[in-house]
Amino acid sequence: MNDADVVVIGAGLTGLRAALEVVRAGLSVLVIERENEVGGRVRTSSERGCLLDHGFQVLLSAYPELSGLPPLESLRLAPFSSGARVRMNGEQYDILDPVRHPCSLFSTLRTPIASVTDLARLGLFTLGFPVHYARAHYRSCAEVLDQWRFSRLFRSAFLDPFLRGVLLDPSLSSDVGLAAFYLRTFARGRATLPAAGMQALPNHLASALGRQHILLNSSAAHLRADRVILTTGEEIRARHVICAVDALSAAALGGPEQTTPLLGTATIYFLAERAPYPEPILTLNGDGRGPINNLAVVTNVQRSYAPADSALISVSVLGDHARRPDDHLIPDVREHLHAWFGAEAARWEHLKTFRIANALPARPRLTQGAMTKDGIIFAGDYLSYGSHNGALQAGKAAAYCIVTE
Ligand SMILES: Cc1cc2nc3c(=O)[nH]c(=O)nc-3n(C[C@H](O)[C@H](O)[C@H](O)COP(=O)(O)OP(=O)(O)OC[C@H]3O[C@@H](n4cnc5c(N)ncnc54)[C@H](O)[C@@H]3O)c2cc1C
Repeated sequence: MNDADVVVIGAGLTGLRAALEVVRAGLSVLVIERENEVGGRVRTSSERGCLLDHGFQVLLSAYPELSGLPPLESLRLAPFSSGARVRMNGEQYDILDPVRHPCSLFSTLRTPIASVTDLARLGLFTLGFPVHYARAHYRSCAEVLDQWRFSRLFRSAFLDPFLRGVLLDPSLSSDVGLAAFYLRTFARGRATLPAAGMQALPNHLASALGRQHILLNSSAAHLRADRVILTTGEEIRARHVICAVDALSAAALGGPEQTTPLLGTATIYFLAERAPYPEPILTLNGDGRGPINNLAVVTNVQRSYAPADSALISVSVLGDHARRPDDHLIPDVREHLHAWFGAEAARWEHLKTFRIANALPARPRLTQGAMTKDGIIFAGDYLSYGSHNGALQAGKAAAYCIVTE
């Protein structure tokens, strides 16, 4: 006898979305997750009254896949400003989206960074997304952006650090379709943070599914088309098996070979007595000096991320910097913070560093996110593209392999 119609391995966004679709189709489901909480790469810890997302993440309100989820009002999303503050050679410049912040157009154009031509090109590049994305072959973001002939400063001070932070890719070798998708989604909505931290999103899906359908602290060791064997030796039988784990775990469980490069990052949290600036805006490293790529005072966006008398600052570093141990990295980060914010930054308390080695797949495979191998359905962001949207899309595609049979 089967334990469920469908067993899903992995309670990240892909697995939870797949499970929700399966239940919507009237089938029974059991989700198996090796960790003690749902979320996968979307986790939030609590420390000293602060909410620490495991890696700086934002939920883009215009992600198309959000419309297929249970309503998100309970997440109480709060938005960042659309655009970024560039720190460059001791100065700061705000480059804001003129559509979302029309009054900012002239101040943006008065900066040495953005010209009318740059903004027009960026608009066209963003709108050109479907054409690029439909291309069958991979083209690197850096290569395509070079062809668009943005001004040198617009690239080096604004667009490149912004995309590096989004793609976690210092060399911008990720597929350009992914960059264009992100830019388009940023333009269509807002980057937001949930009041209870990013893990509120997978928690919301798990609650909608029903926690009784999720088996935590259980790791799959072997998969067959009709059963899952746990590391304890226990067998769970089902009519269908969906493997919704990350790229490396999928390869270990007999899934597609892991060939796409995986990108890493480190997020360092500091607790300050007061915020270094009041606006809910992302700060970018515009001159390439120092280890920080981007910084956010997350309490300027969501007050709930830290106690009322303090500010939480999230610092993102990429590439080789992200691999350095704290005793080397933190002094360099502190020096960088001092250059940006002066002596007050020395008083900020280093709360925690999250190092995520395999955060994102660099090159999307341009599939819907799911494929069948040996009768098992494999799904995940590594088969679509690394993002909440890519994972949710992959989960839906996996369920459709079953419910449209
Ligand atoms: C630092 C960082 C920043 C990011 N920033 C953003 C952002 O700002 N915006 C955005 O849209 N996206 C962002 N992403 C990407 C996004 O978080 C991921 O693409 C998405 O969460 C992947 O979901 P998934 O379910 O496919 O995989 P995962 O989240 O990796 O879930 C896989 C699950 O499978 C479980 N598992 C693995 N092996 C087994 C096993 N053998 N048995 C049982 N369970 C198993 C794991 O424990 C995990 O819970 C970021 C990711 C990171 C890491």
